[in-house]
Amino acid sequence: EDEKRKYIKGKKLGEGTYANVYLGQVRNDPSQLVAIKKIKINKEYTEGMSPDAVREIKHLQELDHPNIIKLHTVFSSKDQNLNLVLEFLPLGDLEILIKDTANVHYGVADTKAWMGMLTRAVWFCHENFVLHRDIKPNNLLIAADGEVKLADFGLARSFSDPYRPMTSNVITRWYRPPELLFGARHYSAAVDVWSVGLVFAELVMRAPYLAGNTELEQIELICKGVGTPTEENWPGVTKLPEYTISNQITPVLGKDHYNALFGTVGNEGVDLLMKTLILDPRKRITARDMLKHPWWHKDPKPTRKKELPRKS
Ligand code: ADP
Repeated sequence: EDEKRKYIKGKKLGEGTYANVYLGQVRNDPSQLVAIKKIKINKEYTEGMSPDAVREIKHLQELDHPNIIKLHTVFSSKDQNLNLVLEFLPLGDLEILIKDTANVHYGVADTKAWMGMLTRAVWFCHENFVLHRDIKPNNLLIAADGEVKLADFGLARSFSDPYRPMTSNVITRWYRPPELLFGARHYSAAVDVWSVGLVFAELVMRAPYLAGNTELEQIELICKGVGTPTEENWPGVTKLPEYTISNQITPVLGKDHYNALFGTVGNEGVDLLMKTLILDPRKRITARDMLKHPWWHKDPKPTRKKELPRKS
């Protein structure tokens, strides 16, 4: 296609599970850099790569927000590969910063800034009827000016038709909410909010909070680290297709438990975290209400983006 001619493909920047990413230059203005993400469509078809996904990706071009990666254009190459031309984000991702405990030092003000950017991104997706469905530190890329951008919309879809059943095999296991682990087919924006909560917990602990090795273990960890889903705290949960819990029931953990682990973010911070990790998706806080939470205005104030820690 003609779109393809607009860019000069450069060196390979990285390789993901189902994509190679290359540096690109705009032919008319080579100082302008882009990332060209070439999806390996020949590999096993997953929902994220089905032709249907092409349309989904197309409408992401219209999601224009400072905390969402800009998709400049999409073109297919002769080998039928799908090429996404994306904003170039050179400073790695939040996972790199979280893991590098030896070199990267950050505090509550930085966590608040990053969480603010993530929450605004998710709010904007949801306002536009888009579910991201794969929020995790590795998908939060960092721009040259420190802005965090939600990326990797490969699994995103519109929820404008809430009655169309959806697959529950989405979201990387550690960030997957209980309704998906129990096989719910009619889920909502609340799935993303759960993932946001786990990113919050991980930013504070500098390790994943619920890192299950299997789906069954993931459910077990949720039961122990949040509470066991039951008809009492989540009416209807026992009717979900894959509802399974061990006979050891843990009551929903209270403020003391969270204070002991996440107390550094203060009372309001812990309150916000707890509201993102409510088991019943209908009771879980929304991204919109997260933005209205008092935590953002408490001290310390969020760090200005240009002063945020960077990878070394
Ligand atoms: P994964 O999510 O498995 O890391 P991706 O296919 O999203 O895989 O990306 C592979 C690598 O390419 C990333 O780890 C990163 O180094 C690089 N990359 C991806 N997107 C961009 C981008 N927009 N700007 C700069 N580098 C990118």
